[in-house]
Amino acid sequence: MTSHSDSAPPWAASGAATRQNGPVRVLVIEDEVALADAVARGLEAEGFEVVAVHDGLEGLEKARAERFDLIVLDIMLPGMNGYKVCRTLRDEEVWTPILMLTAKDGEYDEAEALDTGADDFLSKPFSFVVLVARLRALARRRSDANLQPLELGDLVLEPVSRTVRRGDTDIPLSPREFALLEALMRHTGEVVAKTDLLERVWGEDFEGDPNVVEVYIGYLRRKIDRPFGHSDLETVRGEGYRMGAATHSAS
Ligand code: CA
Repeated sequence: MTSHSDSAPPWAASGAATRQNGPVRVLVIEDEVALADAVARGLEAEGFEVVAVHDGLEGLEKARAERFDLIVLDIMLPGMNGYKVCRTLRDEEVWTPILMLTAKDGEYDEAEALDTGADDFLSKPFSFVVLVARLRALARRRSDANLQPLELGDLVLEPVSRTVRRGDTDIPLSPREFALLEALMRHTGEVVAKTDLLERVWGEDFEGDPNVVEVYIGYLRRKIDRPFGHSDLETVRGEGYRMGAATHSAS
């Protein structure tokens, strides 16, 4: 990843930027409004769906609140700088691939970008063709990693189609129930604290009753466990919730 050719790689011309369930969604966080607009228009013309914001903090909140496939992140930003945005998202286990725009063609910037958890970087000024190529590559890489189905016995969660099934039975879940189950299944066998679930699924600005987590755990059990005679979703008193403890200790 230290040297990139300026010519477009072969997979650059691989058609519209779509994936299984719709266009690839890109969050562009760039305070140079003209550049952000040009990138947004260009990516939209390539079939991407783009949301552009011009402030680091606003970008961070967007990345937390909505589901994006890719993030294009400038470094020097008002509100919060790009390094901090990137590190904060990774600390919160938001793994959306991030392409960082480094301001100068210096090794220090690039090393720093990768060190904070960015997946790739591009030095300004950059070629639009190269940007699109890199984003397509990142989207593809993501589909190899974070979009793999999560499985626990015969319970399967598909991050791409956002569906859940037990054996051959499809289990319809609300978006909130789905997010909660995904948060738990990404840590199968581990206790996830109620406060972590609250932050990840309801957002850290949530000011309602924290017992909403218990309520939704109840909903989930009634959908994924009880009808099938399972008890995969365990309450660990005083600590949180855990998926798959029984399965793990039995195997
Ligand atoms: Ca900037």
